[in-house]
Amino acid sequence: MPATRRVFMLQVATGPAALAAAVASAQDAPARVDAKDPQAASLGYTEDAGQVDARRFPRRTAEQLCANCQVYSGKGNEPTGPCTVFAGKLVTAKGWCSAWVLKAA
Ligand code: SF4
Repeated sequence: MPATRRVFMLQVATGPAALAAAVASAQDAPARVDAKDPQAASLGYTEDAGQVDARRFPRRTAEQLCANCQVYSGKGNEPTGPCTVFAGKLVTAKGWCSAWVLKAA
């Protein structure tokens, strides 16, 4: 069998399985918090703490991020993680909301 045909046959054989696995994985992952959700909006949640409205939240400092918040339980350098304020959903490590509390050492 020519190499190109072999590659094609492998793609046909593995394509649907890989697609199904990717879809299943995406369906299993918790959703990210939508900053426009009423709860998120009321807390000023943003996926990028650099975008916090300083006039609305003048006491926020640049060091305050979800990644170092007491209720964030994301692991290592993962870009998102769970937050108990938004149970069942993910927030971004570089995000922020007004419920932020410094993680205990
Ligand atoms: Fe981020 Fe903490 Fe607010 Fe949750 S409570 S969104 S971890 S700042």
